[in-house]
Amino acid sequence: MRGHIPSYRLTSPASLGDALDVLAREPGIWQPFAGGTDLMVLLESGKLPHKNYLNIWNLAELRGIEVSTAHIMLGALTTYTEVQSDPILREEFPMLCQAASETGGLAIQNRGTLGGNIANASPAADSPPALLAYDAEVELVSLNAARWVPYHGFHTGYKQMIKRPDELLARIRLPRVSKKLHHYYRKVGTRKAQAISKVCLAATARIYEGTVEEVRIALGSIAPVPLRCVQTEDALRATRLEPGSIEKAKAALAREIVPIDDIRSTKDYRVRVSLNVLEDFLVQLAPDRDVRSDE
Ligand SMILES: Cc1cc2nc3c(=O)[nH]c(=O)nc-3n(C[C@H](O)[C@H](O)[C@H](O)COP(=O)(O)OP(=O)(O)OC[C@H]3O[C@@H](n4cnc5c(N)ncnc54)[C@H](O)[C@@H]3O)c2cc1C
Repeated sequence: MRGHIPSYRLTSPASLGDALDVLAREPGIWQPFAGGTDLMVLLESGKLPHKNYLNIWNLAELRGIEVSTAHIMLGALTTYTEVQSDPILREEFPMLCQAASETGGLAIQNRGTLGGNIANASPAADSPPALLAYDAEVELVSLNAARWVPYHGFHTGYKQMIKRPDELLARIRLPRVSKKLHHYYRKVGTRKAQAISKVCLAATARIYEGTVEEVRIALGSIAPVPLRCVQTEDALRATRLEPGSIEKAKAALAREIVPIDDIRSTKDYRVRVSLNVLEDFLVQLAPDRDVRSDE
């Protein structure tokens, strides 16, 4: 049943400074409210805690996409629609655009924000694997300080993160890469659209003469947090892509992920699909495509 609206308070600060002042005075009492696409689901089901909400939707300081030689920087309020329509993101960070295009329907894409997707901290969210594979950093701001932290390590446990209650997520920074990278993004859900992921894999790699020079692999829905699979990356780095190395990488991934049974899928299905999708990524990278294992 829907939450009782008069039990909630919503305040709309005029500036980022005002918002941070509210959070500094009463940390933990006020919760940011961005696009509201996650929070309103909780409200409708009567599960939204009776807290005070800080409407950050109108804060211009948290909007916009800036480009420098080294980075592309996205305000936390950047919507999925804005991500998809940015030409540099489409050219250099296609997996983020694909994640955005496969998130909800048009209404959600117009209102849902990247910052909200990160701070909601769902292990099944779709942009975190892409952000991990692109080695993103996030900026956390409080009244008197700002800090950039690697997104890898931001989530510390199920729905846990290093962000303090007096901090807002302000910006997301993606390092630009001049050398050619391969990008692979695959969301597996019940349907092709409007589905929450059962497994989601994002990966980048640089291959030189059949050998993996650099690789980053991240998965969603297979652990309590969106997971950067560093052991699988280690198993692949500096190896030639051939059936043996692909099998070793799959074995490393099987050890690294910790999926569970839940209403959307089973642990066994998630393991199997994760390994299949990893193999699909690696087969596409191989100069000689005939490296798929017979299993
Ligand atoms: C029908 C539907 C379909 C959906 N489909 C998908 C999907 O396919 N894939 C997917 O990943 N998600 C999906 N979602 C979830 C949701 O749309 C996204 O997680 C969205 O990005 C949340 O952004 P928001 O701005 O609406 O967050 P909000 O609902 O406003 O906030 C979410 C959480 O983040 C916190 N927060 C928000 N912004 C900040 C900030 N700047 N600093 C600190 N904390 C902040 C809030 O306090 C809250 O805890 C779907 C939701 C719906 C209702």
